[in-house]
Amino acid sequence: MPTTIAAIRATPVTVPLEAPLLHSNGAHWGRFVRTVVEVETSDGFVGLGEMGGGGEDATRAFAGLERYLQGHDVFALEKMRFAICNPTASLYNNRTQLHAALEFACLDIIGQKLGVPVHALLGGKVRDAVEFASYLFFRYANPDTGEGEVRTAAQLVANAAELKAKHGFTSHKLKGGVYPPMHELACYQALAASLPGERFRYDPNSALSLADAIAFGRGILDIRNDYFEDPVWGMPQMKRLKEFVPLPLATNSVVVNFEQLAENVRNGAVDVILLDTTFWGGIRPCIKAAGVCETMGLGVAVHSSGELGIQLATMLHMGSVVPNLGYAADAHYHHLVDDVIVGGPLRYERGAIRVPDAPGLGVTLDRAKLARYHELFRELGGYPYDRDPGRPGWYPLIPNDRWADPGVSLRPLLR
Ligand SMILES: [Mg+2]
Repeated sequence: MPTTIAAIRATPVTVPLEAPLLHSNGAHWGRFVRTVVEVETSDGFVGLGEMGGGGEDATRAFAGLERYLQGHDVFALEKMRFAICNPTASLYNNRTQLHAALEFACLDIIGQKLGVPVHALLGGKVRDAVEFASYLFFRYANPDTGEGEVRTAAQLVANAAELKAKHGFTSHKLKGGVYPPMHELACYQALAASLPGERFRYDPNSALSLADAIAFGRGILDIRNDYFEDPVWGMPQMKRLKEFVPLPLATNSVVVNFEQLAENVRNGAVDVILLDTTFWGGIRPCIKAAGVCETMGLGVAVHSSGELGIQLATMLHMGSVVPNLGYAADAHYHHLVDDVIVGGPLRYERGAIRVPDAPGLGVTLDRAKLARYHELFRELGGYPYDRDPGRPGWYPLIPNDRWADPGVSLRPLLR
């Protein structure tokens, strides 16, 4: 008897962050809003998926897909892609990210049914743990405690030391694009000087002009950079930047599907493709993309678009089976104060997280936590990811010149 989809449940949850995280387009306003997806089958299995959505609830979009998928065999993964997001239909309904969450859940069910972990379904793990970078942000202070601000070089260095002591990171990412580039350059240089021998990466989310990116890139040539991540917007500008700065360039913005990957292979703009299990539409598309990158001599790493433990599990399974994973992965995970999975947040050991070996994704929903953080979502509602609570009315240009003032300590309201 085939295992078919009987019902799809989606639950929006809000899990607090230690402090609001700033980025070039706005901020995570002191919390993540995620939609937890449960796919229930005709024979009683429940598989888990997760999706973000820029601070918004995606519940209704999943409800709309239930009637497409009732009766669908969970093993028929390629058919599911064409059933809900074939490439031309998706020009209209943009379902790639929804498909990702459903693919996670189907893989979870297949693994549970066969009694094997998801990594065993995907070719088998080549590593038992996935290493992560520290993922440092400029932050507003937590409004309740007044603590956690990261605005100056000294605060950044202290935050990096704290995270390293707690989790063991030896690779460090600075998310920038918030303050004037020369302030961020001074912060990045101070960070690197404070952790000699370790590895670093800087990511301003395409906010820099070509001139600013050249100046920044030339200013970091003596640092052990993994890569220079999305300094400028677009493949043509990335390619132009390489004429001036001899650093590998990475992206999670301008190569996020197979058409763009093909174009990038042709033009050689970007060297390292950061694979996101949500942006690419699932774990399996990421593995296919990693194969193209292996063939064409491009590097790959694991991207984070924000995650709770379910999505983190997808990143771990993907990272465990890709032989050509060349860099520490990214995760926002350690900025969260809690998770919705049984046992609490997965733990870092020496900067790495063990890949789950239990059947399926290997994580289980904590029903009490799901209810608690659903209630918090109902209380606080969504937040606009592309707005900065400290600068009402502000939005950035690309390239940006409307930088925040590093001389001013703000304590914005977060509702
Ligand atoms: Mg990035």
